[in-house]
Amino acid sequence: MSRPDIALVGGGLLGRLLAWRAARTGLKVVLYDAASSFGEGSAAWAAAGMITPAAEAVNADAEIVAMGRHSLSLWPQWLAQLPQPVFFRDTGTLLLWHQEDAGEASYFEKMLTARDPRTNLLRIDAARLEELEPALGTRFQQALYLPGEAQVDNRALLTALAAALEEVRATCYWHPPLCARHCVVSYASVIASTLLGLHCASCGRKIGCRCNQYRKRRSLGSFRAGSP
Ligand SMILES: Cc1cc2nc3c(=O)[nH]c(=O)nc-3n(C[C@H](O)[C@H](O)[C@H](O)COP(=O)(O)OP(=O)(O)OC[C@H]3O[C@@H](n4cnc5c(N)ncnc54)[C@H](O)[C@@H]3O)c2cc1C
Repeated sequence: MSRPDIALVGGGLLGRLLAWRAARTGLKVVLYDAASSFGEGSAAWAAAGMITPAAEAVNADAEIVAMGRHSLSLWPQWLAQLPQPVFFRDTGTLLLWHQEDAGEASYFEKMLTARDPRTNLLRIDAARLEELEPALGTRFQQALYLPGEAQVDNRALLTALAAALEEVRATCYWHPPLCARHCVVSYASVIASTLLGLHCASCGRKIGCRCNQYRKRRSLGSFRAGSP
């Protein structure tokens, strides 16, 4: 490959998105990640995928909230450009509390309204809550509701972005999945590879986090290549 225009180290959520958007503009992009293309080494793998700029205004700067609001409109546009479908919905955020935490909820409501006067924060009753989220039944008497906020399936997104990077011919160096014996990355990668039913790229064994190596080294931060 000729010299790339951009080299990115770390292909979790931001690295993949950045690489994809840059490659779409015609730039030559190369991406390196310490985990496999599933993204099991990333925070995005564990994240809930909530896109909730209004709810986060309670402890985020105005600039961050504004960027979050802008991103709410970008998500559906970008997801529509991916080669695979990714679950996304923008039916709003519900904030719930147990009766003993009612004081905290009022404080949160006041703080949110004071910090972000544009917020469309609604206090709803049990009937409206059940309508919005039937699985909750009538367990909660009240809730706060922020319409329009969204959620994305992060794991599907990571996979779709890996496919999109192939489509735009970005060069990606993913770390192949490895078992505990051969992994130099992290426990998270090994555990996630186990859950995905992957085989070790070095020895071919099915990856299992219950193997002896994992138990022996669980107090250490990382595995060492080829160690017994
Ligand atoms: C439990 C949890 C829940 C969350 N919930 C939400 C939520 O609901 N909404 C929200 O907006 N945010 C949420 N977040 C935060 C969100 O996941 C992160 O802000 C986001 O993933 C950060 O993206 P990133 O690309 O910077 O990092 P990551 O997604 O973590 O990606 C980093 C990448 O770098 C790679 N890497 C690391 N070291 C190296 C190295 N030395 N060489 C090569 N590659 C390397 C990793 O393998 C990984 O793929 C949550 C986070 C967690 C942990």
